[in-house]
Amino acid sequence: MPSFKCKDVGMACKFEVKDENQDEMMQIIAMHGDKSHNIKSISPEMSEKIKKAIKK
Ligand SMILES: [Zn+2]
Repeated sequence: MPSFKCKDVGMACKFEVKDENQDEMMQIIAMHGDKSHNIKSISPEMSEKIKKAIKK
């Protein structure tokens, strides 16, 4: 199952998410970024970085 770890994009954070659906996963990551890292919107650069960090 695809998985994402927050630390793979350089955050000192233990958050990780596993989801079959990548769009759903991006939404969960966006919510986490907002709540935990005060990232109000994910830039295209950030989005690319996240997609590369997702392990299939
Ligand atoms: Zn995090």
